[in-house]
Parts: sequence; structure tokens; C-alpha cells
Amino acid sequence: MSHSSNFIPFTAFPLDRASALRRDGEQMEALLHHPDSDLILIQDGKPVLSQDSRSHGARKLLRLACATRAAFLPKSSSEPVLMGLDEQGRATFATSLPARFDLDEGPLQGLGETEDLRMAAGIMHMPDLALAGTAKAILDWHSRHSYCANCGEATHMAEAGWKRACPSCKTEHFPRTDPVAIMLAVKGDQCLLGRGIGFRAGYISALAGFIEPGETIEEGCARELFEEAGVKMTRARIVANQPWPFPSQLMVGLIAEVESFDLTIDTHEISQAIWYSKDEARQLLSEGGCTRDGVTLRAPPPVAIAHHLIRIWVEEG
Ligand SMILES: [Zn+2]
Repeated sequence: MSHSSNFIPFTAFPLDRASALRRDGEQMEALLHHPDSDLILIQDGKPVLSQDSRSHGARKLLRLACATRAAFLPKSSSEPVLMGLDEQGRATFATSLPARFDLDEGPLQGLGETEDLRMAAGIMHMPDLALAGTAKAILDWHSRHSYCANCGEATHMAEAGWKRACPSCKTEHFPRTDPVAIMLAVKGDQCLLGRGIGFRAGYISALAGFIEPGETIEEGCARELFEEAGVKMTRARIVANQPWPFPSQLMVGLIAEVESFDLTIDTHEISQAIWYSKDEARQLLSEGGCTRDGVTLRAPPPVAIAHHLIRIWVEEG
């Protein structure tokens, strides 16, 4: 692994987002043509990793010269979005390749390969992973918001890719981030985990749900716990959070104290919910998992915030 298991993947974005620059058309043009500006690529929601980084431990993104992109990018690639500036003021842009473009042919042959982003989380250089996640989320948003939600007209990219504008009704559209509460319900030495309908066999995780309009994170957490497991929350604290680009969530991790161990499971949402002691939770985090009644279950891997929620609670002593 390229990171300690205490590090939450997709966090710690490495660049200055330079949001004031986005509105400066002249500066943006200059950066797009500057010889030091890099371009990273996303195809089908997957980052393009450099072949070179195969033999160097943690995998890195393929970086190309943004100024010469016309020479190697297919015409139907998206417009570049500004990711930000590094400490030396060098810009990184991101663009998405058309799904049918073959990386193994033409000018990019032998330079890079796509990797599933969840899989990449276990093998990538962490700052590059945060970049890849951000690029995926924003480029994904552009691809799904070609038309104005207000009047139906075609919209265009504006502000270096951090806005879309409607030429007809003048509505401005901004990239969305959807907050999700993900919570470890606890009582004394026990924590509550569940298996959602359709979960991968062998895994159990924290309960979670989207925050609804008008709710605070804590209210959403309390509602989800009651709806899914029938437990009443008395107190909650946010202990971690994570951008989750599938497609655009912000996972807000809470440890929530609840009144009792009695459960009423919503079988439309979850198939099973189990109370675990701290010792058992520690086993769930390990390779071997935790075996009860002959069935072995594991916590999600460190790519998921659920892993870290359980770890944080276990480490609290
Ligand atoms: Zn419009």
C-alpha cells in the first residue's frame, strides 16, 4: 500500500484551487498555453495513469503538456478544467477523453492506461488520487449537465470549468456535491454495523443515507438510524469526512450514541444489522475478519470512510 491505513483516500487535495483566477479569461488563456502547464486525463470516469509509474511503487497520473494538447487529444475531448496551481504557480488542467478513444493507438500509445478509481485508491500516490477524484467528479458533472435545468437550452462551460452558463435564460449552474451522513451507532462498548441490500458478500459497513433538504447532518443521521435500524440517537459528533466521486458525494462520518440495543430493521434497505464489541470491530478491520456463528465478515477496505469511522472508534480506547 502506498499510504498508511490512517489516511483517508480522496482527501488532501494538493493544489491551490485558485478560484479567483477562474474568472480571468486572459490569465486562463495564458495558463492553457504556458509550457509548464500540465494536463491530466479521465476516460469513462477512470484516471489515466502513467505507464512509467508502473515500476516506481505508487502509481501516478499521466501528465502531458497542456499547451500542445491539440497534437494528441481527439477533437471530441472535453474542454480542459482548471484543477489548480502548485507551489511554483504551475497549473494542472483536466480533460475527459471520449469513451471510444483508444489509448493504445496514435500519439498517446504506450504512455498511459486507465484504472478503475476505486481500485486505483489502493495503489496510487495520494495527492494524485485526490486530483483524480476531483477531476472525475467535475468532468462527470459537465457530461451530465449539457442542458439548462431551467429552460432546456444547451449550456456552456464557464469559469475554467467550475460553472455552466445558459445563453438563453442566463441561469448559472454550479457543480453539485451531495452530502451523505455515514454513521457508526454506538452504545457503551458496542457499535452497530449493517449489510445493505445488494452488498458484496463478506462485508458489513456503517449505515448511511443522503441528507434531505432542510436537514442538518446530525438530523439526517438521526433520521437514517431510526428509519433503517429503529434506534433513537441521543448525541452525534462528526469525526471525519471524505469527498467520494461516485458520482459527487461528500461522505460525512459520525459517531452517534443511541438509546438502546433493540433493533427494528427496514428490510427494504438493509438485510442485516449486528452489534459488535470493540474487540470484534478490531477483528472486522483485520485481514481475517470477524467470525460469528460460522460466518466471517469484514469491514470495508481503507478506500471507504466506513473503515476509518470504525478505526477511529476502536482507537478511542
Ligand atoms: Zn436556461
